[in-house]
Amino acid sequence: MLKMPSVYIKTYGCQMNERDSEAVAAQLLAKGYDLAASEVTADVVLLNTCSVRDMAEQKALHKMQALIANTRRQKPDIVFGFLGCMAQSRGQELIDRLPDVDLVVGTQKFHRVAQHLEELLAGRSDQIVDVAEEPKSEAAIREHLLNGNGKKSVTAFVSIMQGCNQYCTFCIVPYTRGEERSRSIPDILAECRELVGRGVKEITFLGQIVTSYGKRDIPVRNGISAFVQLLEAAHEVEGLERIRFTSPHPKGYGDDLVEAYDRLTKLVESAHLPVQSGSDRVLKLMHRGYTRERYMEVIRKLRQVRPEIGLSTDFIVGFPGETEADFEETLDLARQVEFDQAYIFRYSERRDTPAAIMPNQVPEQLREERHQRLLALVNEIAGRRYQALVGRRVEILVEGPSKRNAQRLTGRTRCNKIVVFDGADRHRSQVMELQVSRAGSFTLYGDPAIVNLDQ
Ligand code: SF4
Repeated sequence: MLKMPSVYIKTYGCQMNERDSEAVAAQLLAKGYDLAASEVTADVVLLNTCSVRDMAEQKALHKMQALIANTRRQKPDIVFGFLGCMAQSRGQELIDRLPDVDLVVGTQKFHRVAQHLEELLAGRSDQIVDVAEEPKSEAAIREHLLNGNGKKSVTAFVSIMQGCNQYCTFCIVPYTRGEERSRSIPDILAECRELVGRGVKEITFLGQIVTSYGKRDIPVRNGISAFVQLLEAAHEVEGLERIRFTSPHPKGYGDDLVEAYDRLTKLVESAHLPVQSGSDRVLKLMHRGYTRERYMEVIRKLRQVRPEIGLSTDFIVGFPGETEADFEETLDLARQVEFDQAYIFRYSERRDTPAAIMPNQVPEQLREERHQRLLALVNEIAGRRYQALVGRRVEILVEGPSKRNAQRLTGRTRCNKIVVFDGADRHRSQVMELQVSRAGSFTLYGDPAIVNLDQ
């Protein structure tokens, strides 16, 4: 029998991209392909791209150029492809620019990769660009790679929707991922049950704005939104121990969702609320759809129902027109909320977005300076919050060996903090309690001396 080609997928960008790559890899494995350990040994190299920042696009383009320069001559039959957001927004342009690229697959076509590779490898096509819209593609990201490389996965991501209708003025996502499209609740639950059957204990629901899930197709029931209906249904899945979701939108935290945190015990004490700016003027320019006051009200309500909740956020600094006073308001909001973690981005112009042509673009040097000031503040606050957990008992789900030291195990608290500890084999995949012995930078260290809740 002929050996099937091996494929290497390199992923840029967010968790949605990681999830899409995982599903493509699982689909290819099911078709008999091998997964190559590196691009050097692969017969097919696919770059799953990100368009959120210009730098991410440039990285993928340079990577492809280098791959072509280093490999094409020695391996004339190697297949090169771009997948994902940049493939969607640039399409044929990528092949015009890099004629050695064989395949360009957009964000609604991940499930077609195997079929396109077959065409290319059989010599039936020379190059394929597939970036068309496809109805129901939101339900096509469902295959998982669990338990590979000697690792047993106890956590998994489940994609519940695709696209975004918010059209924030800085963001390219609505143009690369299309309009919001949601899977049905029974379809999502079937995937959750299958995952739990394979040993998964924690599921993270994934989407561009998960809190907008099902808005068009699933009616509000007794004041309960479609997203909270999905959380309620997932809560009933036997064997599932923890539910997370990302990314939500602050305006999606209605009272029904806040109340769900009070009532659904599997919903962990963790919330990511991308605020972007602390200034109402900038929030309006960004078209975010909430005010600073409304944002603070959500935080207050969440902390009322779950005082231990871990809160994280995204900030953009140096948005066009952001003055020193606006930036001070962002610093002030960070001080008031005291996030456990914050991801800070310097504003990056994306072509064809409204913000790219707004007046008063902030000079790069000032963006960098504000980035550093905000980073110093959020790190200082987060450091204090991590330190406050030293001596406390926390519940963790053990995920596997620590990345830095495979002799140690790592898990996550319900409030989404990583804990590293010296564990034994019996601790793997368990929900257990630990005593936190010290805090490092965004990592806790613990002693497993206490009770194992699973026993
Ligand atoms: S909510 Fe705004 S930032 Fe988030 S994906 Fe949609 S347009 Fe982009």
